Amino acid sequence: MKIAKIELFKLNTPLIEPFVIAIETITNAESIVVKMTTENDLIGWGECNPYRSIAGETQGTAFEAGQFLAKILRGQNATAINSCIRLMDKMLAGNRCIKSAFDMALYDIAAKAANLPLYQFLGGENNRSVTTDMTVGIGSPVQMAASAFRFKNQGFPAIKVKLGTTLKDDVARIRAIRDTIGDRLPLRIDANQGWDEATAIATLKALERFDIEHCEQPIAARNIAGLARVKAASPIPIMADEAVFDHFDALGLVQHAACDYFNIKLAKSGGLYNALKINAIAEAANLKCQVGCFSETRLAMSALMHFILACPNVVHFDLDAPLMLSADPVLGGLVYGENGSVFIDDAIGIGASFDDDFLKECTRYEV
Ligand SMILES: [Mg+2]
Repeated sequence: MKIAKIELFKLNTPLIEPFVIAIETITNAESIVVKMTTENDLIGWGECNPYRSIAGETQGTAFEAGQFLAKILRGQNATAINSCIRLMDKMLAGNRCIKSAFDMALYDIAAKAANLPLYQFLGGENNRSVTTDMTVGIGSPVQMAASAFRFKNQGFPAIKVKLGTTLKDDVARIRAIRDTIGDRLPLRIDANQGWDEATAIATLKALERFDIEHCEQPIAARNIAGLARVKAASPIPIMADEAVFDHFDALGLVQHAACDYFNIKLAKSGGLYNALKINAIAEAANLKCQVGCFSETRLAMSALMHFILACPNVVHFDLDAPLMLSADPVLGGLVYGENGSVFIDDAIGIGASFDDDFLKECTRYEV
């Protein structure tokens, strides 16, 4: 099933309000859409949201690298996913974010060729109750408590809180949130590499009494030995996020006993192909996984939902990115229900596509 045509689009979607994390502030989701068409007219869709401060890719570099990848993939067999991924990795190192959009389109085509929803193609079942948390960005304690209170009233079953500045300010933030929302709703925190090792250990100990589920990426991504020391000292379980892009990172983290969880994101792993490998390493090491996102639309979240349904070892879900976007350019796919619940139906492939009305306004490339 040869790939006959590949189109790339620069998709820009403003956020409803600026989103502040320890390393940057985001106001606009600058993404790349991949539309892959086979010679028998199957269409595969993919999407990525390059995150410069975490992945080192931008919409511009991803668009450029994407044109190169499109040229080498055109004419290849779309259902030979293994070969297509290996070809991309052989011809271009790194650039996992843009590769994830191609990977997604390949899986969409392969599942459509098999006439199956992607989760069935991956061996899963649509039998899980999946709910997303909702994320509070960094601000003053009062602002953050107000956001958490709003999300609690909207019924979200867990709240994720961005931290990563100073011990004093971060403790004040969590204290304000707990004082406002009470003790019952699960809180998880994410420092986005904002602490050094000593600050991480001191802050995590100070936060112990606020009943925190886990803490994402307390210190710099490359400091694996340091992360292992933080994990050993922390009363709160540690989740690797920026430290785990692909399965090679996952293996290193396991060998160093550096974390309790992996946070898998398709835009870090290079897509589903490698995400499945990360999850397999987690299972072998007796670790559970979370899945997360950057600022993607419901298209990428739909692909991620299929992954969740195929991977029972994924137990935490952070799928809130589309809820922060001011527009929804996606047809079909994942639906947000009451109280943070998320669903997909049994449409074949990823089951979602981009609305042509949105794409016709976008900068486009075709090969
Ligand atoms: Mg994170």
